[in-house]
Amino acid sequence: MTELIDGEAVAAEVREDLSGAVATLEDAGVTPRLATVLMNDKQASETYVSMKQRDCEELGIAAEDVRIDADAPAEELFDAVADLNARDDVHGILVQDPTPDHVPDERVLSAVDPAKDVDGFHPENVGKLVAGNARFKPCTPHGIQKLLAHQGVDTEGAEVVVVGRSNIVGKPLANLLVQKADGGNATVTVCHSRTDDLAAHTRRADVVVAACGVPELVDGDMLSEGAVVIDVGINRVDADTEKGYELVGDVDFESAKARASAITPVPGGVGPMTRAMLLYNTLKAAGEQTGVDVTL
Ligand code: NDP
Repeated sequence: MTELIDGEAVAAEVREDLSGAVATLEDAGVTPRLATVLMNDKQASETYVSMKQRDCEELGIAAEDVRIDADAPAEELFDAVADLNARDDVHGILVQDPTPDHVPDERVLSAVDPAKDVDGFHPENVGKLVAGNARFKPCTPHGIQKLLAHQGVDTEGAEVVVVGRSNIVGKPLANLLVQKADGGNATVTVCHSRTDDLAAHTRRADVVVAACGVPELVDGDMLSEGAVVIDVGINRVDADTEKGYELVGDVDFESAKARASAITPVPGGVGPMTRAMLLYNTLKAAGEQTGVDVTL
């Protein structure tokens, strides 16, 4: 019997646990605050930002919504981030991806004060993560680690194949899983678009994480019997629905489910965990910046 890994339920538990940290901060006179900075006109980014803000407000984290015109000079974004860096009442800052082409990505990642970098993408924070001393674990990989732990998957000695080597999912996840720490100690293989014979790798994995942005790339034939399957993908594909599309993952759900011991659905798997771990990082940032001991 294949278990469905319910990301919504696990995320709700994470949020419940975090409410204690919000109360501790409030008792100390601190209102945790996350600022989101949006500099593009894409509907999907707008939706992500509104969801993040709603999550914050529901938990008691103040959400500040900074908008920069997509045609504005890059300096407008960097000035806004510098202002947020300088404010004591702002504990977390997130610049929603993507920014326009005339704004250099590298500079965006370095602009946010590393102590407020709740995405964990600043080079200093990437370095700390790789060194096994993470300040902020990036939200999606951290959420996946939590899901695996919740599912009782012991990563120690497990063969984990991560399909995708992006800086926001694949690489940081591989780094976390390989670390000498709880939730790590796995033997990790990272696959990508130049990997020869992807299926040969995924077939020997105890855990397969699909984060490649290719709809339904990983199917049941590519899995060993009883594998745990984590589907990170969120892809819009044309469909005969009211909206004209449907969301599918990077895993072919039905065939994968037939072989897996446990699998995440899309939507309702990794996505809610990503959002929950952003709240976690914001509270961690608020605790560290104010000296309030929030036990997370
Ligand atoms: P990127 O496009 O940045 O990276 C995709 C990676 O997959 C690349 O490393 C690429 O290889 C690799 N890849 C592409 N095609 C193949 C293939 N045929 N075989 C093997 N590897 C391949 O994507 P992201 O990491 O940002 O996102 C991945 C997916 O996860 C997307 O669907 C995205 O929407 C979703 N996502 C979901 C989140 C959530 O909260 N659920 C959060 C973030 C992302 P190469 O490096 O060689 O190009």
